Amino acid sequence: MNYISTRDTSVSPVKVSAAEAIKKGLAYDKGLYMPESIPALPEGEIERLMTLPYEKRAADILSMFLDDYDYDKLLADCTEAYSNARFPGGAAPVVNIGNNIYSLELWHGPTCAFKDMALQIMPRLLSRALTMTGEERIAHILVATSGDTGKAALEGYKDVPGIDIDVFFPVDGVSTMQKMQMTTQEGENVRVCAVVGNFDDTQSGVKTIFADAELAEKAEANGFFFSSANSINWGRLAPQIVYYISAYCDLVKNGDINNGDVINVCVPTGNFGNIFAAYIAREMGLPLGKLICASNSNCVLTDFIRTGTYDRTREFHKTMSPSMDILISSNLERLLFLLGGAEITADCMNQLAENGKYTAPESVMTKIREVFCGYYCDEAETAATISKTFNECKYLADPHTSVALGCVEKYKAETNDNTIVVVASTASPYKFGADVCTALGCALDSDAPADIINTLETASGTKAPMPLVKTLTMPVRFTTVIEAPDMAKFVFGE
Ligand SMILES: *Cc1c(COP(=O)(O)O)cnc(C)c1O
Repeated sequence: MNYISTRDTSVSPVKVSAAEAIKKGLAYDKGLYMPESIPALPEGEIERLMTLPYEKRAADILSMFLDDYDYDKLLADCTEAYSNARFPGGAAPVVNIGNNIYSLELWHGPTCAFKDMALQIMPRLLSRALTMTGEERIAHILVATSGDTGKAALEGYKDVPGIDIDVFFPVDGVSTMQKMQMTTQEGENVRVCAVVGNFDDTQSGVKTIFADAELAEKAEANGFFFSSANSINWGRLAPQIVYYISAYCDLVKNGDINNGDVINVCVPTGNFGNIFAAYIAREMGLPLGKLICASNSNCVLTDFIRTGTYDRTREFHKTMSPSMDILISSNLERLLFLLGGAEITADCMNQLAENGKYTAPESVMTKIREVFCGYYCDEAETAATISKTFNECKYLADPHTSVALGCVEKYKAETNDNTIVVVASTASPYKFGADVCTALGCALDSDAPADIINTLETASGTKAPMPLVKTLTMPVRFTTVIEAPDMAKFVFGE
């Protein structure tokens, strides 16, 4: 299986192996790597996978895309990544919440957000890729985070051979819990640093380092090269295909559906990675009907699916579902490529870079609308959904999941389609405890994380996940605060 760039318009595009695609992240022409073709699930595969535990399902599905990886090593990596120790509640359990809606809980990992599903396995895939491609340098991962990604990357990359990681967060731009999660991080190869300013300052700082040829040479001289952990890497996307197939297997196994029945999927969407993985699973032959793309007030994708124009030149809203506060959904590029080809993709992406918007050809939009539909929930609707879901279904959902649940309701009202829907539940409600408490109408004594956890436990009758509780008492290891222009110095230990 070879990988090609979404922007390569030549008759015979440049091809790289999966290992190379994972090591490089971004293609040479700034496009994203895509498999040359999407493998089909073999006849009888659902019945076969149904009998297997998650780690075997993961290794078997990943090996269809990463056929240059040794299967036994892949299985060993998946077994470690998705072990009970790391996912005590199961890797991706499916919970029936009533009204033909199922919650696919993707947040039972070490950081209590769905990014763990990819970031527990991706560092292992990268580490193998370094060996497979004869790489002798250390991969030095740089991450700018507004909260969730940083912690999930730290947990994933800690103590992985051949890799170091620095995570930068805006000093006043993350929640108290998120800050505690990062500054107490364990591991010999990790560093965490606060940067004065907001998330944009931090992210610009990291981008500047990536783009600086002199710094790249200096890294080379020091025996390392810079690499990124963000969601445009195929190594982060491929593991996300697994849980849609796994969820389908579990629904059949539990007798909720018959094998072959079509189900819908709804995904709270930011960078379009998670929902694109569902699309790949559908292309592989998984019986998925509609893919419902759920957004918050930053509804750039809802507008795109409805109008065909992607326009990022709009007001940015800070919401209670911050991981979806995104105006450039990078992985949409992959969908454009699959449905429109490299020429259309390159053209749209150039327009986006130059004008902040593009209009996709109607032929492509027709194909997109056959599969996708888009809805969004504003802040009041999201809060109302948190409260309604808890009161009517006895299910405690975080704000991101609630955006999706609210969109499912809108979809059902508009279409009268009562097909079973699997909703990707992307974070533990305890990660966004203050907003969940407020939505449930319970008063908070203080904004201290321990108080928030206590209040939510009492109000909901549920228990906070252990990793979050543990964070409250862990020693702080990282206290450095720097100005954005000093980030390169920090990276080189100066
Ligand atoms: C990252 C994230 C999302 C958005 O996922 P994408 O793959 O970027 O679309 C949604 N919810 C939570 C909690 C996240 O951390």
